[in-house]
Formats: sequence, structure tokens, C-alpha cells
Amino acid sequence: MRAIAIAVGLICTALGAGAAHAGERFEKVWCLRYATAPAAPLSMLLAGSPPDAKVDVPFAMCVAKSDRHVVVLDAGYVDPALGAGYGITGWTEYAKLLAEIGLLPEQVDFVTISHLHFDHAGGTSRFPNAKFIVQRRELEYAAGALPHNSAAKSAFVADDVLAMVRLNWQGRVLLVDGDVEGVVPGVDVYLTPGHTAGTMTACLDTVRGRVCYSSDAVYTYRNLEEDIPLGLALNGGEAVESFKKIRRILRGGLLIPGHEPRLFADPKSLGFRSVSEHAIAIVE
Ligand SMILES: [Zn+2]
Ligand SMILES: [Zn+2]
Repeated sequence: MRAIAIAVGLICTALGAGAAHAGERFEKVWCLRYATAPAAPLSMLLAGSPPDAKVDVPFAMCVAKSDRHVVVLDAGYVDPALGAGYGITGWTEYAKLLAEIGLLPEQVDFVTISHLHFDHAGGTSRFPNAKFIVQRRELEYAAGALPHNSAAKSAFVADDVLAMVRLNWQGRVLLVDGDVEGVVPGVDVYLTPGHTAGTMTACLDTVRGRVCYSSDAVYTYRNLEEDIPLGLALNGGEAVESFKKIRRILRGGLLIPGHEPRLFADPKSLGFRSVSEHAIAIVE
């Protein structure tokens, strides 16, 4: 464990996370909706919701740009048929999504992978020049114990796990162990498990302050504001502890949950701006 932490430290230094780039701030942050599950049960997000309550659930990734780097938060999935099996529609190719905010997939330097569910880890192939940041605990669990636990396997796809193992062999994975501030310039990552074994929250230093993307550690604002457990958590106790941790690590900054319907249905109510068909601006 210690060796891995040291290895990550060395990698960060090599990437320029040290003094030279300390204080690098992201000037722009967007979230891009790449697909939607229309009229999905609200109980998917908020445990205990009435069975007839429905909501359009967005599937999204976020993108941060500084003058030196482009960082993507989560890689989505790229097999529309796979999503269709979960009732997800309107999948959009990433080159088109990124073009809406003036970027190319080739420009992406780093992708944080919050966890290995298909809708967050299935699109690594679309970022040919990126390095991927993932928690050791998540990769080890998904590659090891998970396949023997049929109750926990839902939303994991073997090919996504194998792709991450292969990327790791190719030297394209920064395997982090817990909380690492400055893992790459301007990005802090934190272990916030419960949804899965190694779900990770990523916080960005931006020109408008701190922005934390919790991914599925917090599905919607209501999970956190009303202390409503996640609709899906492999370990409910850990997930509740992660709610507390996320409140702490936010440090008064802005939270972007993993599947918040309001982000795209009514961004204005949250202080964000719709900038194109699929994109909202969080920091601009
Ligand atoms: Zn998930
Ligand atoms: Zn998800």
C-alpha cells in the first residue's frame, strides 16, 4: 500500500504536479449529458421513493480546462446497445459532445474514473492520449472479488474492467490509494466508497473556487440535503460515511452529483447555464 502511494507521488512529480504547476486553476468547467434514462424510477436515485415516482435520469461527464490541461471527469460508456438494456436512450458520440465546447477527444490529458460501473468507465477507448486516475481499491475489487458476488455485479461489465487492467499494464493508469491532493495539477481525489468498493470524488481548483464531482457517491443534491440513502450502494454504511466526508471535503465549494436531473432540466435554478444541446457551463 505504501509502495503504491510512493509510486503515485513519483508519477505526480513527473507530471509536473510539484511546485512548478502548484496553483494551476481551471478556467472552464462544463458537464456534458451523453444519454438519458427517460421516466426512470426515482427510487433508483433516492432509496424509499414511491414506486410510481418517475424522473428523467441524465448520464453525464464533466470537462475541466486550464491553459495547460484538459481533464475529463468520468468516461461514460460507448456501447449504445448496452445502455438500451438499462432503458437509456439518446446516446451521443463523444467527438460531437466535445465539439460543442470546442474540444477534441485527443486533447484530453487525464480522465478521473470515479468507479467502474459501465456508465462511468466504459468509454476509455475514446481518449487516446489520456491517463486514467482510478482508486486501487476499485480496480482490485472489480478484477478480484466482484465476479464471485452475483448480487454486486449489476452495472459492471467485464470488458471495462479488463480495459482498465490493460491500460494499467500500458502505464496509462494512475492507481491512487485513498485521498491524494494534487494528483495531477489542480485536481484532488478522495476515496468516498459505499456505492462501490472504491468510488472516488474528484475536486477541482477553479477560478471560481472549488468544484467537487462526487459521481455516484451522491446521485442527486437531495441525497445529501435530506440524508436520503442512495438507490444503489454495495455498502450502505460506507455510503453514509461518504456523505459526511463529501460535506467536509467540499470546503464550501460547489458539488456536482452523478445523476442530478436538475443539472440539465433546469440548470438556471442551480446558477449554471445551458450552452449547447448537451452542455451546461459550471465555471466560465
Ligand atoms: Zn455507479
Ligand atoms: Zn452512474
